[in-house]
Amino acid sequence: MNYRHAFHAGNFADLQKHAILLALLEALTADESPLAVIDTHAGAGAYDLRGDMAQKSKEAAAGIGRLLAEGDAPAPFAPLLKAVEELNVGAADAPLYPGSPLLIVRALRRSDRYTACELRDDDFDQLRKVLGPYAFAQGLKADGYATAEARAGRGGRTFVLIDPPFERPDDYAQCVATVRAVRKTDPAAVLAIWTPLKDLETFDAFIRALENVTDDALIAELRLRPLRDPMKMNGSAMVLVGAPAAIEPKVSEITTFLAGRLGETGAAGRVWRA
Ligand code: SAM
Repeated sequence: MNYRHAFHAGNFADLQKHAILLALLEALTADESPLAVIDTHAGAGAYDLRGDMAQKSKEAAAGIGRLLAEGDAPAPFAPLLKAVEELNVGAADAPLYPGSPLLIVRALRRSDRYTACELRDDDFDQLRKVLGPYAFAQGLKADGYATAEARAGRGGRTFVLIDPPFERPDDYAQCVATVRAVRKTDPAAVLAIWTPLKDLETFDAFIRALENVTDDALIAELRLRPLRDPMKMNGSAMVLVGAPAAIEPKVSEITTFLAGRLGETGAAGRVWRA
């Protein structure tokens, strides 16, 4: 449990994950019936980009910093940029960046439910403070995979965000097992899984394993550079299961824009179905 998201908050991968997350939540909340959201790996909820970790990595400066400075991100980024702006009201620059918990509670209605799981004590303490004002939100210091499995299908519609640190060798297998278990209890559940892109073999193996449990996956692959050096995070992917087809153009625009704007020679954004 060494991973700290504060090093990575607001980087290119967060931009892809969070812009797609908000597009998905917009589509899912267009339906009046209540939505139960489970965030298996929630993190701290919001991040101070002036802190030591963000300053050391400089990842936010190369991600959200560039998007804000250049000011020409296409429409599907508008909900994310609005959330960043509202979090930073009164600040000259944008020192704070929202994590998935804050983005989710802002997008939900009072009739919805939100469960956020986080295992680290320090990040969990901050997460509880972030969720404090939202009566429909609950922070749990509990394993996210087990919580998703236990809570899916308790009535109403379910959306599960799975965003592990991939520090454990079984994280890919746990993602697949969670998709299998959640869809078994609730075949209409929607899931979104974030993964890093390091080498093709690992990602291919994950998609092949996923194909054994669903035939309804939309894959948004953001390669910042060709996947030649497996020791580097060469990109990121969002894998959506059961997502409404209407969001596909936004997913595609988000992914191709980030590849073109933040990528190196050989960068590519690709959205495909498995
Ligand atoms: N989803 C967050 C966001 O978008 O702002 C970022 C989450 S970060 C990538 C992953 C988090 O999962 C870390 O804070 C880590 O401590 C936590 N974590 C690791 N294993 C976990 C588990 N089995 N259950 C719940 N949380 C876990």
